[in-house]
Amino acid sequence: MADIIKLLPDHVANQIAAGEVVQRPASVVKELLENAIDAGSTSIKLIVKEGGKALIQVVDNGLGMSATDARLSFERHATSKIQKAEDLFNLNTKGFRGEALASIAAIAHVEMQTKPENTELGTILKIEGSTITAQEVIATPKGTSIAVKNLFFNIPARRNFLKSNHVELRHITDEFHRVALAHPSIAFRFYNNGGEMFNLPVSNHRQRIVTIFGNKANQKLVPVNEDTEVVKISGFINRPEFAKKSRGEQFFFVNDRFIKSPYLHHAVVAAFEGLIKPNAYPGYFLYLEVNPASIDINIHPTKTEVKFDDEHTLYAILRSTLKHSLGQFNVVPSLDFNQDQNLETPYAYSGKNASQPGVTVDADFNPFQEMNQRQAAIGSYKGVGSVANKGWDGLYVGLESNLGKDYAFGGMQFESDSITGSIFKDQTELNESTATTFQLRRKYIVTTIKSGMVVIDQSRAHQRVLYEKFLKNITIKEAVSQQLLFPLDLSFSKSDAIVLNEIKDSLATIGFVFGEMDGENIKVSGVPVLVAESEVGMVLDQLITDYQTEVVGDSFSQTDMLAKTLCKTLAVKTGEVLDTASQLVLVNDLFACKETLVSPFNKAVYITITENDIDKKFI
Ligand code: ADP
Ligand code: MG
Repeated sequence: MADIIKLLPDHVANQIAAGEVVQRPASVVKELLENAIDAGSTSIKLIVKEGGKALIQVVDNGLGMSATDARLSFERHATSKIQKAEDLFNLNTKGFRGEALASIAAIAHVEMQTKPENTELGTILKIEGSTITAQEVIATPKGTSIAVKNLFFNIPARRNFLKSNHVELRHITDEFHRVALAHPSIAFRFYNNGGEMFNLPVSNHRQRIVTIFGNKANQKLVPVNEDTEVVKISGFINRPEFAKKSRGEQFFFVNDRFIKSPYLHHAVVAAFEGLIKPNAYPGYFLYLEVNPASIDINIHPTKTEVKFDDEHTLYAILRSTLKHSLGQFNVVPSLDFNQDQNLETPYAYSGKNASQPGVTVDADFNPFQEMNQRQAAIGSYKGVGSVANKGWDGLYVGLESNLGKDYAFGGMQFESDSITGSIFKDQTELNESTATTFQLRRKYIVTTIKSGMVVIDQSRAHQRVLYEKFLKNITIKEAVSQQLLFPLDLSFSKSDAIVLNEIKDSLATIGFVFGEMDGENIKVSGVPVLVAESEVGMVLDQLITDYQTEVVGDSFSQTDMLAKTLCKTLAVKTGEVLDTASQLVLVNDLFACKETLVSPFNKAVYITITENDIDKKFI
């Protein structure tokens, strides 16, 4: 057999390597920003167009490069940052692989202008798909500017795979945040499609967080400071009451590098245990400094994963430091830290005998207290016939007569007249004693039908009910809105404010009433009936996040997407306790929906188990 193995040509090898380094425009942003930082810049400008698909440009005032270095920088494994493998264990730079520029140049049109301090003229270099098309001398200021155009122009499959511009922009913004938060001593500016998104002057960590996330961020921050032999921890955690249902604003930096660490995240969550609801996430901005020799950042091409030598110690120190901060700043006055055994762990780690761990329990803590309030507030299934429930009536106008004739909701015959008979005539007559439902594991509502029983997923059922209600509001164009007695003043980060502006009109169709937008601030004077005043901020945050990340991407319109997000956010969740009356209303509301089988996200809402099915089990 003839020899068949061939070496891949360089440009093909580069394209393949590029796939690892560059997944999307945001990856390019990260690499270019990091190079600018490694070059000792004090001021960095990021310019993007069309979500980075048309242009990503980073302009810095750092060291610059000689003509030869400029050319070499696009070669694979060309780096000024390490010389031998051992250097990997003592890294003080972001880059070290020498792959980024070569990879980017393999899949885009790149133009670099650069000049070091001590030369009069600089270099301009143009590269298309790894081929240098021009190199000239040019007058340019000290520093480097790299413009990356038409990303993936030669890999159509990858280009088609990119998401819409605003989703890509979101990823870029996330990347920008991470870099900017890690380096408050560097000034950053960020322009999108010609408009300024961020202008971040040189500052400290706290100011940087506030300039990025808006003034409202300031009051949330609880400072964290700890200096041990293993690690130095500084930064901030958000007060527990600001914990969000969605992730975000969770940042770990190790030696000024943003990292992802589910393990350390867990340590933070553990420190907040008992202070926030189980499905909420605390926000944090934590800066860890460790000996570079004690970590390995080489395990992932995009360098966001880090291996620590002694993760367990780090975990213990982090958790107790955070607990300490929460206590010290009087965030948790009820916790008695003298009795907290956890606090002992890191300081006297060695030479101590293990002692029986103690447990402190806050007997007054009731995790469902707030939930119940919330249920009442969203007019769900607490207190049937109460004011909160009024919003529901309108939904079923017209249904009453149809459904009244036979009780076959969605083709389903209920065994008990008491459920179906009364509901659509007068909900207030509902009486718990007539109910034939029960809640299973705080997750399912079980009820009987003629042929057997139905097991309903409570959260999905409520999503369906809310979704149809919102859609109905939207289509009849007179959303049921409740006026707020005192309009709320909400402030957003710049990028969130931009999104809010885009979706404001659609939000109005579902019942939000907004005043004029003043920069990042907006007045909310009305909200949909089903949204509690205390939840407005959270709901809007969720709407903005979902819109940016296209979580509910297969929606056929913006309003449909908003309705989906809203119903997801507001629906009763798994784990919430529903009283019998609430269960009953939910069951009836569900079977009054146009579609009952699947949730708005196409998940099964209920299953039926027939008597026959049960009989079979007994054979
Ligand atoms: P790495 O950062 O891993 O070294 P890159 O491909 O990102 O690899 O960059 C290659 C080299 O090009 C760097 O080591 C650095 O010497 C040089 N370089 C890249 N960007 C800049 C910049 N903005 N300013 C000065 N030098 C740069
Ligand atoms: Mg680099």
